[in-house]
Amino acid sequence: MKKITNRAVSVLLIAALVVVGMVVYILRFVDNGRDWALYFSRANSGSTGELIDRRGQTLASFSPEGSLFAGDAFTRTANYHVTGDFWGRSGTGLLSAYWTDMQGYDLIRGTTQAESSILRLSIDTELNKTAYRALGEDRKGAVLLCNYRTGELLCMVSGPSVDPADADAVPGDGAYINRCLSSAFTPGSVFKLITAAAAIENIPDIEQRSFYCEGKTTVAGVDIICSGEHYTQTFEQALSNSCNVAFARIAIELGQDTMVKYVRDYGLLDGHELDGIPTAAGSYPTEFVGDPELGWSGIGQSTDTVNPFALLRFVSAVANDGVLTEPHMLLDGGEPERTRLLPQETAQRLGEMMNYNVVSHYGGEERFPGLPLCAKTGTAELGDGTSHAWFAGFLSDEEHPYAFVVLVERGGGGLTVAGELANTLLQAAVNG
Ligand SMILES: [Zn+2]
Repeated sequence: MKKITNRAVSVLLIAALVVVGMVVYILRFVDNGRDWALYFSRANSGSTGELIDRRGQTLASFSPEGSLFAGDAFTRTANYHVTGDFWGRSGTGLLSAYWTDMQGYDLIRGTTQAESSILRLSIDTELNKTAYRALGEDRKGAVLLCNYRTGELLCMVSGPSVDPADADAVPGDGAYINRCLSSAFTPGSVFKLITAAAAIENIPDIEQRSFYCEGKTTVAGVDIICSGEHYTQTFEQALSNSCNVAFARIAIELGQDTMVKYVRDYGLLDGHELDGIPTAAGSYPTEFVGDPELGWSGIGQSTDTVNPFALLRFVSAVANDGVLTEPHMLLDGGEPERTRLLPQETAQRLGEMMNYNVVSHYGGEERFPGLPLCAKTGTAELGDGTSHAWFAGFLSDEEHPYAFVVLVERGGGGLTVAGELANTLLQAAVNG
């Protein structure tokens, strides 16, 4: 009798294991089935599909006959980090991210749907070409431009790039990395926008203060050097002078906890998603550092790094009265998410100060003709004599509500290098 009981238990146990195994398999099938089904038919499942830009230009297409990109090499190369390729070399391209969706995978029927699948993009191919041409084939960098009201991303270019249709192309260093999404860089003075926003909200008499700069300030025996001697200046003038002395002192007065809170709240320490494509997080000293280091961190040096897409989100929110409309490329992806990043008063004051920068210090109408521009430069020193050139901001213009970020890696001066590229791009966006 005991033997029979034991056998019955064993059989029940085996049955239970089979059931558990089935459940695990079904769950994994639901989760991964499309990848399994498409793994052996990566080239094509019989479907046809297309990526088209906002002007209706085809950037990539596929059908049972084969896969194609845009007709000319320059268009393909300028748009490479939007499209990616059919082989997944750039994991952040839309062809990689949406391959299974575009192939029309069906859980029950497998890859049998031979329907046409079209992804309509907000990207303007002509703007991407303008940005890529202005960046130049030899320079590394990231260029982003979006409509801050609708969140539509019009331009995303990363250099160096590569022609996906040229099998013999020798890609430049890091050409498969989308610097807009997948990298974070020392921000230098564009970071002063964050310190300024925190100061507007936490130092009640900030607008009545005056900041004195003799070219450096000494904090606990450590010199923080400024790019010039700015003498007596208001808060607004200190931002337009991009005065290290003033902004290091402001960061120290705010304290590390407050600085960390703002950097975090503005999303600069998080990865985000562009249409489901993950982006890189930035960094800021979150563990205790002393005052000199805190001062350096407040001016975008120290261990600060910023992801260009995360900075675009921030300047877009400043431009849009504090409300971020989440940037996206897919035109049929539904209503974009909207989140308040800053109070309206902070966003508006910061916007005014950014306009003052351009008018009083960046050459205004002469350098940026016809553009109602609000911006901040950054020349992020890397300690080896080179510097990243940054220029970030927006147009205060209802007809052309564009926010942008330009980064030229080890490119030199923020205004002269990145500012010039931004002007070329904005002129094309407004007048093109
Ligand atoms: Zn100074």
